[in-house]
Amino acid sequence: HIMSVPTTMKAVVVEQTGGPEVLQFRTSYPVPTPQAGQLLVRNNISGVNYIDTYFRTGLYASPKPEILGREGAGTVAAVGPETTGFNVGDRVAWLATNGYAEFTAVSAKKTVKIPEGITDEEVMASFLSGLTVLAFAKETYPVQKGDWVLLHAAAGGAGFLMTQILKTMGAKVIGTAGGAEKCDLVKSLGADVVIDYRSEEGKDWVKLVKEATGGRGVDVVYDSVGKDTWEGSLEAVKRKGTIVWFGNASGPVPPLPLPKLSPKCVKVARPTLFGYIETREEFEYYTNELFSLLKSGQLKTKIHKVYPLEDIAQVHKDLEGRKTMGKPLLKP
Ligand code: NDP
Repeated sequence: HIMSVPTTMKAVVVEQTGGPEVLQFRTSYPVPTPQAGQLLVRNNISGVNYIDTYFRTGLYASPKPEILGREGAGTVAAVGPETTGFNVGDRVAWLATNGYAEFTAVSAKKTVKIPEGITDEEVMASFLSGLTVLAFAKETYPVQKGDWVLLHAAAGGAGFLMTQILKTMGAKVIGTAGGAEKCDLVKSLGADVVIDYRSEEGKDWVKLVKEATGGRGVDVVYDSVGKDTWEGSLEAVKRKGTIVWFGNASGPVPPLPLPKLSPKCVKVARPTLFGYIETREEFEYYTNELFSLLKSGQLKTKIHKVYPLEDIAQVHKDLEGRKTMGKPLLKP
């Protein structure tokens, strides 16, 4: 296979931190050269994740100028020196950075071939987010059959997948989401209880969670909303329960005084996906798991919308404005 690679490409560059307006669409950005251990991928489709907004605002530090975008799917266009295991023309998915572009140079270590029968779009709707929820449900807190689980933002990119995975694990799921449409979606995935935490009744979601669990509270809370929900999550968890804080959609959880955990002997975790997929073995374990769930149809994906690359500022506005359901994707 030989693929002709142009010298320039379309890309979105962030030169300094700020609002969605700092996402600059360029039409003649240099195409990167794959280094040792890397592949050059022509992205067919890229994923947009909430984490991208943290790097844009500076909540998470990263060197600028930067091309955001933590994942992509497409075709190998060139193989770097000393890179093994891949050929030009392979259909792959990768985790790295620089995804808001036509081409990305990525480490082969965090790249996998996409099996036949799964589309690039299906993978991008479930790659970073799906690997995250699998790792958090299997390792951060190993969910048991019959556990009561409270999951916030259950209609989001990660939430849509997590609701389904928790149900396949036999958990009883209480999902929160903002608005009737999102709540209907979560209900359709088999969630046992759905709370619209922006409605009048749902504002007191802690009370509703307590009622649903016979006053006991949930075995585990998965909370990616952060600032607005962390205190309620601590109230809604049972004695000896676990809280997994894994995101900052409303802002970060403030520094937590440890004595707050004592009355109920609560355990807390603050995981990140990359801690669970550091070795090739771990990465392949979770990607194989994800691909088999997709292939068997046990895990459904939902694409909010595929946006053209030049509309990236709108994607960030829609994500931060809580307007998306499922996963927003980007067509470079
Ligand atoms: P989502 O599609 O879930 O978007 C975020 C959602 O959070 C919104 O749709 C909204 O849903 C909810 N939300 C609640 N309060 C706010 C607020 N004030 N502003 C904006 N949104 C709010 O995003 P992702 O699926 O990409 O990510 C979900 C979360 O998981 C993020 O916090 C992300 O950082 C985290 N994450 C962490 C990982 C890790 O390794 N630690 C890996 C992957 C994701 P609603 O309207 O229903 O409230």
